[in-house]
Amino acid sequence: MSQDGLIPFNRPCLTGKELEYIADAIRRGHASGDGFYTQQCHRFFENQFEIKKALLTTSCTHALEMAAILCNIRPGDEVIVPSYTFTSTVNAFVLRGARPVFCDIRPDTLNLDETRVETLITANTKAIVPVHYGGVSCEMDSLLEIAKNHKLFVIEDNAQGIFGKYKNKNLGSLGNLGTLSFHETKNINCGEGGALLINDSSLAERAEIIREKGTNRSQFFRGQIDKYGWVDLGSSFLPSDILAAYLWSQLEMWPSIVAKRKTIWDTYYQELTTWAESLGIGLPHVPSHVEQSHHLFYLIFPDLENRTRFIQHLKQKGIHAVFHYQALHCSPMGLNLGGAKGQCPISEQMSDRLVRLPFFNSLTQEEQWRVIETTLEFQLLNLKKPMSHARLAA
Ligand SMILES: *Cc1c(COP(=O)(O)O)cnc(C)c1O
Repeated sequence: MSQDGLIPFNRPCLTGKELEYIADAIRRGHASGDGFYTQQCHRFFENQFEIKKALLTTSCTHALEMAAILCNIRPGDEVIVPSYTFTSTVNAFVLRGARPVFCDIRPDTLNLDETRVETLITANTKAIVPVHYGGVSCEMDSLLEIAKNHKLFVIEDNAQGIFGKYKNKNLGSLGNLGTLSFHETKNINCGEGGALLINDSSLAERAEIIREKGTNRSQFFRGQIDKYGWVDLGSSFLPSDILAAYLWSQLEMWPSIVAKRKTIWDTYYQELTTWAESLGIGLPHVPSHVEQSHHLFYLIFPDLENRTRFIQHLKQKGIHAVFHYQALHCSPMGLNLGGAKGQCPISEQMSDRLVRLPFFNSLTQEEQWRVIETTLEFQLLNLKKPMSHARLAA
């Protein structure tokens, strides 16, 4: 517990080796991109996730922007995205001139509803961007099948799902491209950072070029060409090796981070299930063929009023809980891009009803018990009859 007794929603967590590795990265005399620690991280992801190529980026946002360039997204193209997601999932494609086509989410996993995707496909559709919400996989078999039949790219926004799996396959390795985030709030972090995971080997060479300001510098340094020059579109998407050193100190410890987060998630689920079911409050759903990443733990209240009261109730006890996305099709930008209220009803409901409990690697048992006990004290107001989460969402 922090000294003032407050339990934050998130606390950035260190493993202990960060400063040592950062100092080493500086001493090695190669603090720009693609130094020793960057190579370590690349090899780790390529082996661990069984992908053709991994490239560290300055953020998951930038990895998504690289993906949009790699898929040749152009003005007039359409990209199918969930409405219940972070802005970067969509911005990356809008920046290339694409029109986002917002798809609603499933009421159980809150992931892109694969049964609605096909109806949204037109002659202009170029890509589908599944987001594994909370690190619980989307229904990838269906999505990959649809993409294959319509010749679409699949770009997994796997910002939340590192080490998660779908039918024993690593999230981020199923689509043509996948992304990761190492933002301070994510399971593995280096402050700000990300990665592009390349499963489709035909995209690998161009990915290096886009990441290196449109030059074939990487090939030059490998001795594959005599001089390097400007060959394609690009920007500066590679992080300093100092950040990669920070990241490596966390990646090295991944099994203990995964275990710690699983314990926290399982404890919330065990201790809150009876209470939640008796009140008709929704809890996360993890299909049996999915291994989740234990990124977050949420509760779904019957309405906005009760959610607001719940957040207030925790706040009075020094506990900080937060809601999540405002459905993007109803945001000012989403409305400008053709979104309309009522278009994705489940996403709209979740904007009002979902709340996330404190969840970070260093959450202590005492802190978690305080969150659980305070949650169990909460009573719903004005609820005429208890309703099941599924019925409310239907
Ligand atoms: C965190 C997050 C991002 C953005 O990650 P950054 O590394 O901060 O750019 C994108 N998509 C989703 C679903 C996220 O949760």
